[in-house]
Amino acid sequence: MTTSQKTINLVVHVEGGLVQAVYTDSSLNIRVSIQDFDIEGADLDELATLPNGAEFLGHIEQAIRDNPHVDAVFAAFDQAIECDRKEDSAQENYLKTHGKFCPNCGSMNIESPGSMEADGNLVWSFVTCMDCSSTWQDNYRLESFSDLDATTLKVIKSDSERGYWSNQNRWSFDVASASKFSLAGVLAANLPMSLGNDAEFIDLADAQDYLSTELSVGDEVFWNDPDQGISSGIYKIHTIHTESGKLLHSSDVCFLKNDAGSEAEVIAHELS
Ligand SMILES: [Zn+2]
Repeated sequence: MTTSQKTINLVVHVEGGLVQAVYTDSSLNIRVSIQDFDIEGADLDELATLPNGAEFLGHIEQAIRDNPHVDAVFAAFDQAIECDRKEDSAQENYLKTHGKFCPNCGSMNIESPGSMEADGNLVWSFVTCMDCSSTWQDNYRLESFSDLDATTLKVIKSDSERGYWSNQNRWSFDVASASKFSLAGVLAANLPMSLGNDAEFIDLADAQDYLSTELSVGDEVFWNDPDQGISSGIYKIHTIHTESGKLLHSSDVCFLKNDAGSEAEVIAHELS
């Protein structure tokens, strides 16, 4: 919630030389750090240290919202704080009714030219009350986007590099790190060098992460049998059912055998 309250009033409750509580009249989340340089006799683990080496005792107090208490304490100093809060509740009412009423006279006869002005994630429009002639500004904040009609993006993949091209980090095994190219970007880009000279554009939608280690026929692996681990254990890769003859992605399939003669057809993500 936003607040228009111009002044935030705090009451710090001290007793026995210690801060017991902090009270506020604001709806904002207010945190107060207590910093006491009187550290004689303090336990070492209670001390905090500033970058300049100065040590102090302290903790963070979460301010407690208690308008009547704050009012009473400020009134004891002859300090009235009603004025600010009135504006705060006018603000709350205005939001509750989605800005249908003049915040000054309450009339629904208000008019806005309809045009919006924007700066960054803030947008505003000017409103006039036709009854009392007050003017104000409605403020909007960017909240989300919707109805995205996304165009196709491409990434550059290389099986020999076991990765996707990133303009910042060169080859990386995960799709998330890859540079994404629009169709215009594909036309403008040169394919990067790769070990096997096999860099190519593929649709982002078809890209899947490479395994963090490459596996080949003959490699020893540990299979985590998804069937309650009954056949889990150490196996050797016997055959690999991919074009390249290597296990590159977690969805690739291979055939395992172990010394005891057990065999299994497994998916790479079951291996560790
Ligand atoms: Zn009005």
